[in-house]
Amino acid sequence: MYFTGTSRINEKQHLEIGGVDTVELAKQFGTPLYVLDEWEIRRRMREFVSTFQELDVSAQVAYASKALCTKTLCYLANEEGLSLDVVSGGELYTALASGFPKERIHFHGNNKTMEEIEMAIDNEIGAFVIDNFYEIELIERIAREKGKVVNALIRVSPGIEAHTHEYIQTGQEDSKFGFNLIDQALQATERVYHSKQIKLLGFHFHIGSQIFDMNGFDKAIERVADFYQLLKEQFQMEFSILNTGGGFGIHYTDEDQPLTIRSYVQTLVEMVQKHFTMRNLAFPEIWIEPGRSIIGEAGTTLYTIGSNKTIPHIRKYVAVDGGMMDNPRPALYQAKYDAVIANKMNNNHKEKVSIAGKACESGDMLIWDIELSQPEPGDILAVFSTGAYNYSMASNYNRVPRPAMVLVGDGKADLIVRRETYDDIIQYDIVPERFEAKKAIQSK
Ligand SMILES: *Cc1c(COP(=O)(O)O)cnc(C)c1O
Repeated sequence: MYFTGTSRINEKQHLEIGGVDTVELAKQFGTPLYVLDEWEIRRRMREFVSTFQELDVSAQVAYASKALCTKTLCYLANEEGLSLDVVSGGELYTALASGFPKERIHFHGNNKTMEEIEMAIDNEIGAFVIDNFYEIELIERIAREKGKVVNALIRVSPGIEAHTHEYIQTGQEDSKFGFNLIDQALQATERVYHSKQIKLLGFHFHIGSQIFDMNGFDKAIERVADFYQLLKEQFQMEFSILNTGGGFGIHYTDEDQPLTIRSYVQTLVEMVQKHFTMRNLAFPEIWIEPGRSIIGEAGTTLYTIGSNKTIPHIRKYVAVDGGMMDNPRPALYQAKYDAVIANKMNNNHKEKVSIAGKACESGDMLIWDIELSQPEPGDILAVFSTGAYNYSMASNYNRVPRPAMVLVGDGKADLIVRRETYDDIIQYDIVPERFEAKKAIQSK
């Protein structure tokens, strides 16, 4: 059994997180329920920040809020001294509504709209990460109209294939993100460098997600260092910031062997040191953007087990009261998860089953072939490492209300996202006046 954070087995042989019995949580808040371990989130944020401090390297650790963006998460990131990455007006709005310091907000995305750029400039955010030529035009025009100068990094695509699922690779040459090295990136640099509206601080890359093998980072840093060298020696341009993105891998199942956060950071710093000193470049301030590695393992989803179906000699399906609506990752990219029966932690009579979601979609399977303690209707299934890209990717497919989320710690549970209701589900529906049935209902 692999436990992260404060997870343990209590006297009742139940799964406990943050000093709270998860079976009680399921009773009190209902299921499905997202449970976040506050101690573990803070520990991970601190390990990123403190490792840079111990190495005496100037850095900004920006939490990639797309992994899980709620107001409470913004408060936590702020309290722990992190910066914040946003990729949309909605995430920016959440950050601003939480009073997150504007100067530590970075805005990403491959198609920022005019409204989003205006919103970011009006609110004087810390930096844009510019993705393409059209965006340069937009930012310049809007900043000029508003009489402002904005800070920016340029996102480059280093042409590196990170060893991870194809859908979460982003650094390869054939990618929708960023300016390809060297020609496009050079052209963009000259353009932005001479802009009166944009102050160019440095460059950014992000090669993918759920990466365990640091070789991809080494190659990317090498190529980007070559680019900094070219800019310095041939164009007399020097930049003080290098942003190496996020993507650090975490434990979902025992197939995953992540490094510690400390080792990820140490390795990264050594690589920058190696490639920059070799080229006589000044050591840059390092910005990183961890999302999954901060919030992923700190999240657990609780479900109630319902129906089952046995197909003799093939498999037993066990269904839960959620699925691809609250966790689309298995359906989207064959993501694997580990789970336990939270109310039977001492039961050694294991049975091999497959966990089905309740969506009307054959692809809605959460876990294939897992050994569980004889799951029965009414049992609580706890699926681990669901903090990242679960709630943030959740939908109302089948008009299922999205689950609640609680933050647990020191034996207490606080509701941080309330459960959606059926009224929430229909609140955006508008029926035109001319419908006869509507008149009939109104005249009653
Ligand atoms: C998604 C994303 C991240 C975070 O990736 P994780 O794998 O969650 O750490 C960081 N930077 C950029 C630009 C991203 O798109």
